[in-house]
Amino acid sequence: REFFLAGMVADQLKAMGALASGVAHEIRNPMNAIGMIVQRFAREFHPQDGEEEYQQLAKLTVDEVRRINTIIERFLAFARPAPLQLQTVSIAEVIGQSVDFIQSSAEEKNVSLSFHAKDRPTLPADPSQIKQVFLNLLQNALDACQAGDSIDVSGETVQDQYLIRIKDTGQGIAESDKSRLFEIYFTTKDNGTGMGLPIAQQIIQAHHGEIQLESTEGEGSVFTILLPIQRSDRDLL
Ligand code: ADP
Repeated sequence: REFFLAGMVADQLKAMGALASGVAHEIRNPMNAIGMIVQRFAREFHPQDGEEEYQQLAKLTVDEVRRINTIIERFLAFARPAPLQLQTVSIAEVIGQSVDFIQSSAEEKNVSLSFHAKDRPTLPADPSQIKQVFLNLLQNALDACQAGDSIDVSGETVQDQYLIRIKDTGQGIAESDKSRLFEIYFTTKDNGTGMGLPIAQQIIQAHHGEIQLESTEGEGSVFTILLPIQRSDRDLL
């Protein structure tokens, strides 16, 4: 009987998930339309007075629409994870691209960001999903940092895995938050969605990898990702 109940709950959750992603999809198009219309208003129509406030409000609307879109994108990524498109990738290259992408935001914040790859093996991975993981982790590290802090990313082969460390000297994570970090919607940021880490974890697990965390409040955090270099043929299908 317990078995039966558990099955029902799982089915209900699945149905709710499907409904929610359906709704999220439907919201996306009108949201984009609203964003575009407001941008057009701001460009093509000008009030007789109060131009500055008008432009500010328009920008605020566009920013909020973007925010809703981010939430929806992330929700959909979580609720309907895209199937892995495995390729043989140079993992160091993919990480390097993510680091390059974040570099200018780091410079703006006066945070030094470096990447050092001891070796550069290839492994089976979905490059765009892996990039998503590193962008999320790097953005989190940057959010935790202040001017003068640093983020050091390193990669090396350890036995049959590639081990990537993202070490920041930022604010660190409170002991009481650690167990909740990978929960969906857990965030300590005003503008956070709390979906970055759950999605990262989901993607790494889909690659048969692992994601680990060490952190000392006030000193910084280290996120470690392990990705298998070798796979059985069955995994590659
Ligand atoms: P979001 O970034 O939207 O808050 P995440 O799931 O990516 O969602 O992260 C959840 C929370 O984990 C963050 O709000 C933050 O409190 C904490 N966190 C993640 N990475 C770090 C880090 N490098 N340093 C400090 N806190 C972090």
